[in-house]
Amino acid sequence: MSDRVDKTYFCRTCGNEVKFVKDGGGQLICCGHPMEIRKPGFDGEE
Ligand SMILES: [Zn+2]
Repeated sequence: MSDRVDKTYFCRTCGNEVKFVKDGGGQLICCGHPMEIRKPGFDGEE
C-alpha cells in the first residue's frame, strides 16, 4: 500500500515549503517559478 508519497517542494525565492502526500502530477508554482523538490523519490523505506 503505497500510493502515498512524501515529497517536499520548496521555493528558492521565498523559502516556502509544501509537503505532498499525494502526487497529483501537477507542478507547483511559487513566486512565478516552479517549486523544486527537496527529496527525490525515496523508496528504501517500508
Ligand atoms: Zn515563493
